[in-house]
Amino acid sequence: LPLVYHKKILVLGLAKSGTAAAEILHDLGAFVTVNDSKPFEQNENAQYLLSKGLTVICGSHPEDLLDEGFSLIVKNPGIPYTNPVIAEAKKRGIPVWTEVELAYRISDAPMIGITGSNGKTTTTTLIFDMLEAGNKLPLIAGNIGTVASAVAEKATEENIIVTELSSFQLMGTEELKPKIAVLTNLYEAHLDYHTDFKEYTDAKFNISRWQDASDWFIYNGEQEIVTAYADKSEAKKVPFYVSRKTKEGISADNSFVYWNGEKLFERSIIALRGKHNLENVLAATATALLMDCSLESITKVLSTFHGVKHRTQFVREWKNRKFYNDSKATNALATKSALEGFSEPVILIAGGVDRGHSFDELIPYLSNVKALIHYGETAERLQSFGVQQGIPSVVRVSSLVDAIEEGVKLSKEGDTILLSPACASWDQYESFEVRGDEFIEQVFALKD
Ligand code: ADP
Repeated sequence: LPLVYHKKILVLGLAKSGTAAAEILHDLGAFVTVNDSKPFEQNENAQYLLSKGLTVICGSHPEDLLDEGFSLIVKNPGIPYTNPVIAEAKKRGIPVWTEVELAYRISDAPMIGITGSNGKTTTTTLIFDMLEAGNKLPLIAGNIGTVASAVAEKATEENIIVTELSSFQLMGTEELKPKIAVLTNLYEAHLDYHTDFKEYTDAKFNISRWQDASDWFIYNGEQEIVTAYADKSEAKKVPFYVSRKTKEGISADNSFVYWNGEKLFERSIIALRGKHNLENVLAATATALLMDCSLESITKVLSTFHGVKHRTQFVREWKNRKFYNDSKATNALATKSALEGFSEPVILIAGGVDRGHSFDELIPYLSNVKALIHYGETAERLQSFGVQQGIPSVVRVSSLVDAIEEGVKLSKEGDTILLSPACASWDQYESFEVRGDEFIEQVFALKD
């Protein structure tokens, strides 16, 4: 790759993706310097890269760093554009690539990019599974697991790289141009990293910004903020609509899914629950159709895919009760989405870290919630919320394990027991994954 071969390149920030990027650039014949603020003694990544023969500068971002004469900087997504080295590089006209930009530039495999405020992981996983069912040799990359540039390095032209992209990763891209870009939706989120909502949504739209008429842009046709961005895209467009049949794009009414107004399949074959998941299903189906997957391989996935782990994931049916793990729901908005998907009686298990957020968003979705079992720091507030909203049973317990036991006691045949905590986990758990794993384990331990 002429842009990197025998060029002096600086990699800034050595988290997982910066480290992978540095090693790849080194393998591609660049002279790589890495710089990370974490001191060398505590910096395993820096120690590793030094042992591989890269130049390592650790502990600070020295002011004269750029005097070395780099022709390119690759930055870890966690490094903000306000970082003094980045600001100085911009001033000097040195190009700054994000790690996903590198992934895009080093590979000839077509890329499918997925972004949005919610539904990224679910949509990415669905697309991957559909392409796999259609024998399209997909590789999964990005936010969801393996670093994008590491996947891109080993991909051949035969592969399709399916990449989940966060706004952090998309900010500052220069040419990254997926063959198919998916934008699920845009909500107020992650404003702690971005200066304002516009910067955040602009970064998300970078997924389509450099696309041209040979590419496709699949997006939420029912969100005005998204359609306003879509107007600026040069790509061929496929909007999705979850609440009505439309002539163009992919759409659904209560009975069917339609492709340009023609029936595709019955909605009842879709195993995933919830209107929000229908967005993800439509976006993934459109992607798979554009990649020439057969309808059969698409419907096979849709009828068996019960959700990504910890995201309204169906766990088990036991004595005619269904158990769902939505441990990823760390705020009320996510729990609201989960509740929306159930019409049968629900026993809701919630609680965890108290960040002072209101639970009011849940109010319109409580009519079939017959019990709220709660635990953790938010206990007081959830107790009064549940009582105020007239939920028939509101029970406080001290742990998730007790909550499951209590839920089973209160349940009848046909009920759903849903862990959707509306709170973060770290008052009692290391992460939402550990919390969800405990739920799964306990539910599978239920004896007949
Ligand atoms: P992300 O990767 O964007 O965080 P996930 O697919 O992991 O999204 O889903 C996280 C949670 O967000 C889910 O548990 C669900 O409650 C909610 N969710 C998923 N898809 C959507 C959507 N399309 N719209 C709104 N909420 C959604």
